[in-house]
Amino acid sequence: MRRMISALAVAAVAAASFAVPVFAAGETVGIAMPTKSSSRWISDGESMVKQFQDAGFNTDLQYAEDNIPNQLAQIENMITKGVNALVVASIDGTTLSNALENAAAAGIPVVAYDRLIRNSPNVDYYATFDNFKVGVLQATSLVDGLKERFPDAETWNVELFGGSPDDNNAYFFYDGAMSILQPLIDSGKVDIVSGQMGMNQVGTLRWDGSVAQARMDNLLSANYTDKTINGVLSPYDGLSIGIISSLKGFGYGSGDQKMPIITGQDAELPSIKAIIAGDQYSTVFKDTRELAKVTVGMVQALLEGGEPEINDTTTYDNGVKVVPSYLLAPVSVDASNWQQVLVDQSHYYTLDQIKN
Ligand code: BGC
Repeated sequence: MRRMISALAVAAVAAASFAVPVFAAGETVGIAMPTKSSSRWISDGESMVKQFQDAGFNTDLQYAEDNIPNQLAQIENMITKGVNALVVASIDGTTLSNALENAAAAGIPVVAYDRLIRNSPNVDYYATFDNFKVGVLQATSLVDGLKERFPDAETWNVELFGGSPDDNNAYFFYDGAMSILQPLIDSGKVDIVSGQMGMNQVGTLRWDGSVAQARMDNLLSANYTDKTINGVLSPYDGLSIGIISSLKGFGYGSGDQKMPIITGQDAELPSIKAIIAGDQYSTVFKDTRELAKVTVGMVQALLEGGEPEINDTTTYDNGVKVVPSYLLAPVSVDASNWQQVLVDQSHYYTLDQIKN
């Protein structure tokens, strides 16, 4: 028995001494993600872990469930543990200045992932999509849908939803959308019946679908008892699903009450299914695998003394500096092209995942 125990002990020591050099050989990247409540961030995390590992890095991936102190603690912890680089998709882009000061003091480079980190000089690079273009695509598709479904309307009745006011992206999406919608509002073709406009009135804290659903309920009760709504600008699929529930509760999508045109973002599965069912009109596909690839490339260059690839040096002023960025192209998806874009070309989903 004693011999067996000591044999086990030797094996354990051997395994441990094996394990230590393997871990120490690779550098570790701390990845702070906002929440698992939306599948896009799960895909982002999975793609990054896989691609960092393929490139020889270890990873420490943490989700903060949209809780700001949680995310701060996770980042501080990564810094204390001595990660070699940080990749952060922030919950509130304005709350990380102190943590990033500590990162800088420890010589840890920081890449802002998808969402800009504001008010800090210690953000080295930014990997994202063309966020203004996302808004342009959303509003363009809204208008296309309105023409298609309500061709005879003299005026289209529309309501606007914005993303979370603490997420820099939300303003880019809104501004991009308004670059298309404002001229139509000015000409009277589009009527924002509630009069609620501007991010301070239409923002949706933490991108919360139930908050959007409750606001849609209120908008319908207060403004649409003797009017029909034709379109809703929604900046994110999770909000669109809440908005659709509200509209259905008010009888839209049945009898002669046509579903309004509803936009979205992220090509999440429930929304692709809703597009196929005719409840949601469109979404915007952003290939998270490509964003992970850009980010891994940036971190690799930072740690190996190279120059990260960027394609934008003017757009993303974080209040302290313009953060050099790489912007990927978003793609508009609706009933006419979801299969081509999401299945046949990118293999982002299988047909099975969408149909079941
Ligand atoms: C991302 C969007 C996402 C939203 C909600 C934004 O920062 O860019 O892709 O829909 O957050 O998670």
